[in-house]
Amino acid sequence: MKIITLPDPILKKKCTPVKEVNDETKKLLDDMLKTMYEAPGIGLAAPQIGISKRLIVLDVSPRKGLKRYQEEEVKEEIKPNPIQMINPEITFISQDKNTDEEGCLSIPGIMANVTRPSSCKVKYLDKNGESKEIHANGLLARCIQHELDHINGILFIDHLSKTKKDIILRKIKKQQKEKEQTT
Ligand code: ZN
Repeated sequence: MKIITLPDPILKKKCTPVKEVNDETKKLLDDMLKTMYEAPGIGLAAPQIGISKRLIVLDVSPRKGLKRYQEEEVKEEIKPNPIQMINPEITFISQDKNTDEEGCLSIPGIMANVTRPSSCKVKYLDKNGESKEIHANGLLARCIQHELDHINGILFIDHLSKTKKDIILRKIKKQQKEKEQTT
């Protein structure tokens, strides 16, 4: 599936909850996972493929093609660890925070340091409609918060200072113009 990028307005919309978990939901979650692996990325939210529903997928395990991991960290035997969440809700965030570099498949070519709570708990339905809760730390906690933001219409650049955000938005506009001129 095609990944939607800025400035598409769907990325700024709050998504609606999934009312019923059915085959269509499962198919969508699997398509999202496939799209995320192909990109490649560590997380994807439904609005990023143009669907304004509260669905996210993640896999932060080291894989080839992810800039975050050095070549030596990506070993053949590392198994994929996909997580698919329906109607996720953060139930706890830690007081302590940390800062790390983030990027987004919907804002290609842009990376910036973002400060977030270092751990969180998230409650969700899995693709069989069963209620689950996990306590996440480190990169997984960061990724969950980033994807949760997406389904509330918030992007990682919204966490930056106005000055930094303006610089990035100008850069995106410039990229857009150059693209229009070449096509
Ligand atoms: Zn993103």
